[in-house]
Amino acid sequence: MKKPVIAVDGYSSTGKSSISKLIAKELGLIHMDTGALYRAVTFYAIQNCLNDRNEIDLAKLLKNLDQIHLDFRSENGELVLYLNNENITDKIRTSDISENVSFVAKQPEIRDFLLHIQRSRAQQGGIIMDGRDIGTVVLPDADYKFFLTASADERTKRRFLEMQSLGLTTDEKSVKENLIKRDKIDSERTVAPLKKADDAILIDNTNLNKNETLALILSYITNI
Ligand code: C5P
Repeated sequence: MKKPVIAVDGYSSTGKSSISKLIAKELGLIHMDTGALYRAVTFYAIQNCLNDRNEIDLAKLLKNLDQIHLDFRSENGELVLYLNNENITDKIRTSDISENVSFVAKQPEIRDFLLHIQRSRAQQGGIIMDGRDIGTVVLPDADYKFFLTASADERTKRRFLEMQSLGLTTDEKSVKENLIKRDKIDSERTVAPLKKADDAILIDNTNLNKNETLALILSYITNI
């Protein structure tokens, strides 16, 4: 049986990546966290393209796009993102990146640049990708599409605990403000805004834990 292509989109901190990773394991698929690509470009911008007010210099970033080499490498059954040959997995979760990533992600040139990387890997099939525009733009023909949502308070709690477990200092108020701000910018941008594809299944996991969300999603996936 052909392995499916699955799109998972939704609001920030609804557990898209961690649940997609579990689904991948369960169904023998590759998992791609597309948010990591936008975070990686933001990481590059903060390191190399700041103006004298310490803000991202967009013109410089766009001019430097050909200096940004991103590739996902398979390591122990998982895709690990490298930026210019550096494994940046642990460096792209900081508040600094979260504060700036939606500004970077709303730029059409950046989205176009990252679209190729996402689509070329998906052509091989057997993949689950999570992000904001996977079901609407990146993989409109995916076999299954899910759209995750949860209350802002629940998402804040999850993100705060995740940051704590990574040893990153923050407080719940700033985490909540960042989630709300990012969702607003992501939903209102002109190109590939965050929205549920018409044919996506809506999953509200406010009152579901990771395993319950996993079971619910798997219950929709047949023909495997
Ligand atoms: O998934 P994560 O929270 O790491 O994504 C970080 C940001 O990357 C999002 O807030 C959004 O601005 C951007 N993003 C996007 N399209 C995707 C994935 C992420 O615009 N497919």
